[in-house]
Parts: sequence; C-alpha cells; structure tokens
Amino acid sequence: MAHIVTFHKEYDIIVVGAGHAGCEAALAASRMGCSVLLLTMNLDTIAQMSCNPAIGGLSKGHIVREIDALGGQMGRATDVTGIQFRMLNTKKGPAVWSPRAQVDKKAYQCHMKWVLEKEPNLDITQELVEGLEVEEEGCQSSGGEGSLKRVTGVITRANMRYRAKVVILTAGTFLNGLIHIGEVSYPAGRQGEFPAERLSENLRQIGFEIKRLKTGTPPRINRNSIDFSQLAVQIGDEKPQVFSFSTQSITQEQVPCYVTYTNAKTHEVILKNLDRSPLYAGRIKGIGPRYCPSIEDKVVRFAQRSRHQVFLEPEGMSTEEVYLNGVSTSLPQDVQIEFIRTIKGLEKSEIMRFGYAIEYDFVPPTQLKPTQETKLVENLFFAGQINGTSGYEEAACQGLMAGINGVLKLRGEEPFVLGRSEAYIGVLIDDLVTKGTNEPYRMFLSRAEYRLLLRYDNADLRLMKYGRRFGLVSEQDYKRCEEKWRGINEDIFRLRNEKAGNTTLAKLLQRPEMSYYDLPCPDNGNNLTTEMVQAIEIEIKYEGYIKRELNRVEKCKKLEARPLPLDLDYSQIKGLRTEAKEKLQNVRPDSIARAHRIPGVSPCDISTIMIYMEHKRRVKCSTWNTAEE
Ligand SMILES: Cc1cc2nc3c(=O)[nH]c(=O)nc-3n(C[C@H](O)[C@H](O)[C@H](O)COP(=O)(O)OP(=O)(O)OC[C@H]3O[C@@H](n4cnc5c(N)ncnc54)[C@H](O)[C@@H]3O)c2cc1C
Repeated sequence: MAHIVTFHKEYDIIVVGAGHAGCEAALAASRMGCSVLLLTMNLDTIAQMSCNPAIGGLSKGHIVREIDALGGQMGRATDVTGIQFRMLNTKKGPAVWSPRAQVDKKAYQCHMKWVLEKEPNLDITQELVEGLEVEEEGCQSSGGEGSLKRVTGVITRANMRYRAKVVILTAGTFLNGLIHIGEVSYPAGRQGEFPAERLSENLRQIGFEIKRLKTGTPPRINRNSIDFSQLAVQIGDEKPQVFSFSTQSITQEQVPCYVTYTNAKTHEVILKNLDRSPLYAGRIKGIGPRYCPSIEDKVVRFAQRSRHQVFLEPEGMSTEEVYLNGVSTSLPQDVQIEFIRTIKGLEKSEIMRFGYAIEYDFVPPTQLKPTQETKLVENLFFAGQINGTSGYEEAACQGLMAGINGVLKLRGEEPFVLGRSEAYIGVLIDDLVTKGTNEPYRMFLSRAEYRLLLRYDNADLRLMKYGRRFGLVSEQDYKRCEEKWRGINEDIFRLRNEKAGNTTLAKLLQRPEMSYYDLPCPDNGNNLTTEMVQAIEIEIKYEGYIKRELNRVEKCKKLEARPLPLDLDYSQIKGLRTEAKEKLQNVRPDSIARAHRIPGVSPCDISTIMIYMEHKRRVKCSTWNTAEE
C-alpha cells in the first residue's frame, strides 16, 4: 500500500485543472472569500489555448461579455492581450453582433497566471490529481452505488492527500486523452502533455457514467516560410470593441491576419491518403464536433466545393508561429506537409507543430444539477470540457458558475442558476443538464430562444447585479453600469416624448432608414458613448420584438415556478410513456419547464406529470385536514 501524506492545510475549495474553466472557478471562489487550492499538472500551461489563438466569435463573444458582467476574468485578459479585434455579423441585426479577438497566446497565459498568483485566498500547486476522496455516510470509501456520497478531497500522483469541503473538477481533454496522427496513436492530454488516466477510472468506480468524444487541431507554420504577397490581408476594426465593461480602450499594437484557400490539388492529396486517416480507418471511436469538421471531413462531405477558406492567424507577438484556421487534421505528418504546400502562399511553408486529433473521456452532463454539482456526490462540481462542451468561452463560464455555486453551497445559501432568458450561460448550462450531449457542445446564437434580450451590449444590465451581489464586481464598475443605463433610459424617455412634427423622435427612429444621429435635434448623443447610442437605437427600433420576447418569458416563468421534487419516482406515474419515464428518471428535472425541454418528453407527458403532482398535492392537503380534525 502506498503511503499517503495528508497536506497540513484544509481548504474550502479545491479546483483541479487550470484551463479556462479552472481559472475562472478558482478566481470566483477565492474572490468570494473562500480559501482555494488550484491543483494543475503544469503551471506553464495555465489558461493555455489548446487550439486557435482567439477569444469570442458568434455567441462566444456574448458569453465573454456575460462572464465579465458577472465578475469573471476572461474579458479583461482578452482586452490586455488581444492583437486584433473585430465585431462579427454587423451586416445582420444587433442581437447577433458578436465581438471576437485574436489573442497573443503566451501573453494571455502569463497574464492569467499572474492574476491567479496575486489572489490572496488562492494557493496554486503543480500536481497531477489521480483520484477523489469520497466519504460514504460517514465512512471513507472509493465509492459504491446507492448510498449518499460526499467529496472530502483529492489524492495526487505524488501520494499527497489534499482536503477540502468542495472539489471542482475541470480536467478538459485530459481524461484518458489519446492523440491520433495518421497511423500513430499515443496517450496524452494535449500534444506534449501527460494524460490523466487514473482519474477517469476513479470517476467510473465512484459510479459516474463516462463516454468518449473527439476534437482536433490544425498545423502551425513558421511565418518566415509564408509568401504573404499571394495572400489577402484581413485587418481588425479601426475602433476595437472592448470585451470588458471595465476596460476603457485598447492600446496595444494590432496586427493583421491573412486569408488563402485550399484547391483541387489540396483535395486530391487528402483524398489519396484517406486510408491513412485514423478517422476514416475507424481507429477514432469518439464523436467529433459536426460544426467544426477536419479538412479531410470537409473534402469528403462537401465534395462539390472546389475550395475551403484558410485563415492565417498569428499566435502572438513574440513568436513566429502562425495558426492555420480551417485545416484541422489528423492525417499523417508527411501528408500534412504535402497538402499544406499545395495551398497558395504556403508552397514553401515549414510546419512547426503538426495537426492532430484527440479522443478523451467526458462525463455526460445530465449527471449534474443545474448548479453543476454532481447528483451522485455531494459538494463535487464539474466544469468545462469534462461536461462535453468545446471551446474556451463555454468552459470559462461553467468554471465561473461552478466557483460561485461551490461557495454558495458552503455557505448554505440559495444556488445561483441563470435562466434561459437571462444569459447565454443560462442556455448553455440548461441545455447540458437537461438535454445532455452526444457530440462536443458549442454555443450557437440559434440555441437561444430570446436573442433580442441576450445581446452582447446589454450583458451588464442583465447580469452585473449578480456579480456585484457576490462581491465579484467592484462598486466603481457597478456604479458606472447604473449610470450608463440611467442615461440610456432617460434618453429613450426623451425620444418617446419629444415631438418632431406630428410624430415623436422615437417613431422617427423606428423607420428603417433612420439612425440616431439622423434625428432632427442638434445636441443628440452629446453626452452619450457610442455603446449607449447603440443600445438606445436597438431598444427603440426593435421595441415590438423585444416586448414579444418579454411576453414569452413571462409565460415560461409560470412553468419555471412549478417545481418538481428531485426524488420524484417517475416509474410510478401512470400514463407516462416508457421513453419519457426513462429520460425523466435519468435527468430528474427540478421544474416543469425543465422537464418540458428534455428531448423525448412530449406535451402530453407534461400534462400527465402536472395532473399527478396536483393529485399528490390534494391527497397531502386532505391528509393534513383529516389529521387536524
Ligand atoms: C486538440 C484540441 C483541439 C481543440 N479544438 C477546438 C476548436 O476548434 N474549437 C473550440 O472551441 N475548442 C477546441 N478545443 C477545446 C478547447 O481547447 C477546450 O474546450 C477548452 O480549453 C476547455 O477548457 P477546460 O478548462 O475545460 O479544459 P482545458 O483547457 O483542457 O484545461 C484542463 C486543465 O486541467 C489540467 N488537468 C487535467 N487533468 C488534470 C489532473 N488530473 N490533475 C491536475 N491537472 C489536470 C490540465 O493541465 C489543464 O490545465 C480543442 C482542444 C484540443 C485539445
């Protein structure tokens, strides 16, 4: 038996893994006053971007703004280290505008590491966690089904026991990670990093269901080997849109990206070598992201397309590495060299890091409560890619929410669960815990049913009150937000009441061709920032649609307010279809609304549950009445 040494200090919260989820979880929990230990296997990879050097993008940009409004770090770190900012989708309605930034990868990591290091309640230690310590009804054990379990700490590879009341697991793609490049496969967490092999087995022993997913990344090439004269340049916005509500402006140097395309020759090389692809040879079993296919997938699935776009994105200011966005691949290395060199401008390119695919274990997230605490083990929370998501932003917001909820659980306070009408974060977590996922889940604008309410520009209005309540947003930032929205509302009031001929300024502004600055009043917008003017325009122009969405939210709230007990035995409800019984038994929704969103549960099943609950309520009341008589 190995001799395990117990670390001298007991923590409130242990966070395992310092990726995007782990960093936010550790910061939130320590800033809320808890003593936190962040254990991660390599301090030099804190907040590492495993794939593209960019933060934000469609719907992901919204999430970063929401993280920021709640007091998270990702937006601030992006503002400090971003090297090209662009607002996406501006040709469409404002509900779907989304900020994105190229980021200096190393600078981002160093910045985040430094922020963590300066946090007074937070200790950071380089350790590889191999198991959880779980207490079962008062006795220490490694698990077993059917009994009440509570996490008490973790055990590391170096045989060290760290104790804590709450553990937040954010292991990313590291659980049983298996890399594939062509005919070669080997265990790794990411390229060049250890996998976490025992932890996955430990989770299975405790009783968690574990499944497998896959993702991939493209090659990085040396900038000096690129012929830029053949490439189209893509520059950022003239006035970069900041991510954080606390950032005043972007001052660091901005750099361009470049665009090129694959061609018939590229596709020929790829098709000729498909039998050497682990994907097509059937060696990869995990399910990959449909929306983010590898180049070999694109060439096969979209055979009619003669070319595919490739973006050349700089990895940072102090490196010559350039990321080839659009050609994620797990083809053998010699094939990667061959096909990349068929692309215009890349004929002499030198690959510095080869693309690869990685398979990894995840824990299907229907095993979580809406707070991300596991249903199986009390005080154990999961956040990030371990829950089946993909993407830095998706991971970061889960980390933040798990950090907050871990603290609230310790304090015995009400959990913090965001509604689908409040935030993309609410949509994401609700989707995960009620619907689960069979492929890497990423956020899309279309996943949100209330897009006009969930705009990137009003994330502060929606969420900063919570960040402030938890002590994660400074008084100064909160006051600035209040003043901003007071100014916006006063101006909206003015526009609604001020006459322009036989109509009001607001009615004029609702005309499609009119913009705020076209209105016939000379000092319009003098005391307002561009962001405020934009919010005013949206609120007025889309007033009708916004009202309609708000009405839908009200209707849904009534269902949301009808709770369902987590221990409800659905097998006893007569009239429920077998499929519905199985799904409900598995997910255990906490409200009628959440039950309604589970795939496979029909409106008819919902009526049956409501009748059953009403019947139960009446029986209870009559029993009480009889007892009182
Ligand atoms: C090859 C690859 C390609 C990807 N491609 C894309 C893409 O195209 N688009 C996209 O949106 N996302 C992509 N992703 C996913 C994206 O990188 C992740 O979703 C995101 O980083 C997840 O954040 P996380 O915090 O959950 O985990 P990670 O960022 O993976 O961080 C996990 C952290 O936990 C640590 N850790 C793990 N296990 C242990 C342990 N047992 N003990 C101690 N520390 C541990 C690790 O060292 C690491 O610091 C890709 C990931 C990979 C690996």
